[in-house]
Formats: sequence, C-alpha cells, structure tokens
Amino acid sequence: MRRWVVPAAAALVLSCGPRSPAAAPSPPPSAAPCPAVPPAAAAVAARSDEAAAPEPAAAPADAEPHDDVDDLEADDDPAAAPAAAAPAAHPLDGWSDERIAAALASDPASLGAMSLGRPNAGALRNGVQLPRDDPRLTLADPARTWGTGETIAALLLAVGEVHRQYPGAPPLHVGHVSAREGGPLRPHKSHQSGRDVDLGFYYVDGSRWYSRATAENLDRARTWALLRALIVGSDVELVLVDHSIQRLLEQHARESGEDSAWIEDLFRGTPGVRPPLFRHVAGHAGHLHVRFYSPEARETARRVTPHLRRAGALPPTRHVVLHRARAGDTLQRLAKRYGTTMAAIRGENRLRGAKLVAGHTYRIPRDGPPPAPDAAPDRPVRVPPRRTPPSAP
Ligand SMILES: [Zn+2]
Repeated sequence: MRRWVVPAAAALVLSCGPRSPAAAPSPPPSAAPCPAVPPAAAAVAARSDEAAAPEPAAAPADAEPHDDVDDLEADDDPAAAPAAAAPAAHPLDGWSDERIAAALASDPASLGAMSLGRPNAGALRNGVQLPRDDPRLTLADPARTWGTGETIAALLLAVGEVHRQYPGAPPLHVGHVSAREGGPLRPHKSHQSGRDVDLGFYYVDGSRWYSRATAENLDRARTWALLRALIVGSDVELVLVDHSIQRLLEQHARESGEDSAWIEDLFRGTPGVRPPLFRHVAGHAGHLHVRFYSPEARETARRVTPHLRRAGALPPTRHVVLHRARAGDTLQRLAKRYGTTMAAIRGENRLRGAKLVAGHTYRIPRDGPPPAPDAAPDRPVRVPPRRTPPSAP
C-alpha cells in the first residue's frame, strides 16, 4: 500500500531561511545565508526511514526552517492520480508562434509568468513578488518571494480572507517562495519554479517565524481559515505539515462543522481516486509548505519553451541529491560519481576544507538539461479539479 509519507532521508533537506530571533515579532529577520545541514540532524534523519528530523521546541536563532519535499507530484503514482479537469481558457489562446516569438523579443513580460520545469529542477520567468509592505505579512527573506502570478494571488487572497474573518489578525510569516528567476534555492530541493511557499502558522501567543506549533500555541481557527481559503480559492497541489499539526487542524475543522467527507479527502485522500492533500514530512512542525499547481504559468511555459530554447534562453536545471558519506569518501570521489565538481559540492555545503565526515549527509548539486515543460510538450497542462466542500460556492 502506498504511503504518502516522504522518507525522512529523502526529505531531509533543511529548509532555510531566513533566520529570525525566536519569538521576536519584529523587526523582520535578516536574510542570513543558510548554513550547511546541521550534522546531527542529518545523521539522525539519514539513519532511519521513519524518524522525524529533530526539531527544536523553539527554534534557536540559528535554526533554519526545514524543508523539503522531494518531487512529490500527484503524478508520481499514476494509479492514484486524480482525473484532470479540462484546461481552462489561457491568456495566450489564439496567439500564433510568430506573435509569441515577437513578444519574447520585444516585451517578454507581456507573456506573463512562466513556471518552467519541475519544482525540484525548474526555473521561473516573469515572476511576481510578494509585496514587501503588506502589514498582513512578515517576509523572512523578501528577495526570495517570487512566484507565479497564481501563487502570489492565492496567498494574498487567503490572507485577505483570514483578515475578513478575523480583523486584526497578526501578520503571517512567509519564508521562501522562489528566487527571482527560480532555480536552485538553498537549502531546499524544491522552490525552483515559483510554485512552492513556506508559510508560518498563526499562534495564539504572538506572531513569529519557524516556531514549532503545538496544541498549546497553535491558533487553529486562523490557521485553518488560511488553509481553507487556499484550498477552496486556489489550485493547491499539496500541503506538507507534521502529523501532529494535521491532527489539530483536522479536529478543529470537524468541530467547526466542515463537511466530513471533504475533510476525510483532504487528510486521508480518497482510495483509488487521489492522495490526501495534507502530507507529513519530517521537519514541518515549524512551518507549512504549500505547493500550488499554477496551471496558467505552466501552460505559458509549455507554449513559450520552444521559443526560449531557440533563443538559448534556458539555463541548465540544477537539482540536489543527498549523499550520506561513508568512510573513505572524498570530495573527488563524490564529484566523479555524481558528475559534478569538487568546487560545486564545497559551495553547496559551505565546506571550507576538503574533509568529509562519515555519516554526515551532503548536498550534491547536479546539472540537468534545461527545464522541459512540466507536461507532455504537445498537450496543454491540465490539473485536477479543486477540492471544494459541498457547500462552497
Ligand atoms: Zn518549503
């Protein structure tokens, strides 16, 4: 039976961000560079498929939010892939190849956001940045909050809904979305194509970033209102969050009268139809990772990719694999084995010297081909229908 749990070893990538003083609502945390994977965390998680990565009860100042998900696409298990809805109308409908080529040459922004490739090996063009001055948000690393227009609109819409229901709600902390042009974003594996977002929780005892949510401090009502608005109002592919927090949210949703079959589908999926939307990944007790489908930006990418390729405007993708060092491993050996360079491994892991420590997990960057459309090149992008409760408009 398929388990919708990411093995800890695969999931063990520390997410980053943005350091922030624990429990300090302001000022906004500085965008400190992410350190290498803390060896203790790496070793523990790499030891066991099931073990949750250790997570501090309250993140110390140098703790990095943890991420991240390997390619957890709905289509990674065709048997469980939900039927896709018919593609919606698209802004480039009716555009000829010549018109797209001309727009790319003269006014590329007019083509709109493009989510290229996959979340773990992709890029973003014409992305939209979260507003830096929205009092409802606290951005942990504003320079890395670029997403597809759909991603950014969904976030703003959902936060607006929280404030409509709960005027005066504290700011929501937002971690990474993507870099301006997407691509690799330390220390994540994903967050490459403008479709992944790390979000904080609402807490009953003050706004903060990357603090473990518990039965005592989780503001279930506001956090559920946020998630509900995202799920009902946008195309959410998955939400990664720790089991313990899923239980709190599910209980709250049921007690507040949500449709039982809908909640069941969100948290446990529907056998033979689709996996749950909420999935556990170790290290997600201090933040939520939301992935959006962004069908429009992916369809734009599909249509424009041949032109980008002809123009030589597609860089190679880079994905990261994790390697747990064994006795005798050397930088040179790893570089050869994975087809990369010692300098790249050193840079990715912020290594000063050449020494590798047996038992530690290292991030190995690997270059791949330029991003391909995240769909068959000759077929429009289609995504599953939204999961809406029976009473939703
Ligand atoms: Zn994330």
